[in-house]
Amino acid sequence: MFYQFILIDKNVKGDLWMSTTREYKKLEEITVEDLMIPSEKVAHVMLNNPLEHALLVLTRSGYFAVPVLDPENKLVGTISKTVILDQILGIEGYEVEKLSHLLVSDVMEKDVPSITKTASFIDGLKSVIDEPFVSVVDEEGYFEGILTRRAILKQVKREYYQNQYRG
Ligand code: AMP
Repeated sequence: MFYQFILIDKNVKGDLWMSTTREYKKLEEITVEDLMIPSEKVAHVMLNNPLEHALLVLTRSGYFAVPVLDPENKLVGTISKTVILDQILGIEGYEVEKLSHLLVSDVMEKDVPSITKTASFIDGLKSVIDEPFVSVVDEEGYFEGILTRRAILKQVKREYYQNQYRG
């Protein structure tokens, strides 16, 4: 019986950090929880933050988009640089003052997909085909982290090389 070796490593903007957890699992035993970035490592903004703050978080982190949480830490959407820049673009150019007048809740994307941490590897893979990341929530909608396309692709790469060594 072949086992997939998972060295759970999470690449946060190029800074490789490794969890202390090392376990052998078959690919079909891997769940979203094994690959996700936990909430405490995820940059996010709150529903009632001004756009100015959201743009600062996105610019400083270098991320294209981040999750939006409500005061209870439930997932309510995502916000991206593109949406913010589009909102403040007026006829004669960017109207920067709008950044302090508008709130994240005014412009965020509300219809966002999510997944649970018990979901299988293949369901995780399907969820990031059309998205660079998907939020991980519990049954009540509380935010638990994100699953990125990068994490899925890295696992596919490991599986590919594992199969080569076996062959
Ligand atoms: P990656 O696959 O690492 O390039 O990440 C894809 C997208 O997921 C990024 O552009 C961000 O929108 C989001 N993302 C990745 N890591 C984080 C993080 N630590 N905090 C917030 N968003 C993240």
